[in-house]
Amino acid sequence: SCVRSYPDFPQPGIIFRDIFSVMQQPTVFADLMDVLIDYVKAKHKDIDAIIGLDSRGFLFGPIICLQLGIPFVPVRKKGKLPGDLMSTTYQLEYGSDVFEVQKDSFKPGDKIVIIDDLLATGGTMSASVDLVKKNGGVVEECICIIEIDDLKGRNKLKVPFKSFIQF
Ligand code: IMP
Repeated sequence: SCVRSYPDFPQPGIIFRDIFSVMQQPTVFADLMDVLIDYVKAKHKDIDAIIGLDSRGFLFGPIICLQLGIPFVPVRKKGKLPGDLMSTTYQLEYGSDVFEVQKDSFKPGDKIVIIDDLLATGGTMSASVDLVKKNGGVVEECICIIEIDDLKGRNKLKVPFKSFIQF
């Protein structure tokens, strides 16, 4: 009930679920972070890094990383990251986009958890899993706060997936 919903945004027929509305309620935001941190601490005792997806994965990943004392790694849309990069192309409803990660941001064999705010069709998350695997990482789990479950995006992922709120 704390996630505000916006019908017909960004286009007719879509209901946009806005995680920022949760962040504007400090006690709810604090509870949400406690839930996320407790979950990752209990389930992933020996992960090497958390990867956050551009852009709302950047809001939650770093806070969890600070609590676990592990690195935070961004996956970003093309053209935003400096240095040697690994990239992958993924399909959108119309056309395609490119995700990038810095090659030296984790080592081959590193155990990774990927986080984003929301899973819809699963295209964004599955492209990120591919990118991490291409760069030698082992994806232990993908985590989203919100899942639009009738889109069945989790079926696209070949790795464990966890969500905390389902619409
Ligand atoms: P997917 O690739 O269809 O699973 O879409 C997920 C990506 O789009 C995530 O990075 C989300 O941040 C964003 N997204 C899709 N729908 C929504 C929404 O209703 N609210 C917020 N973000 C959304």
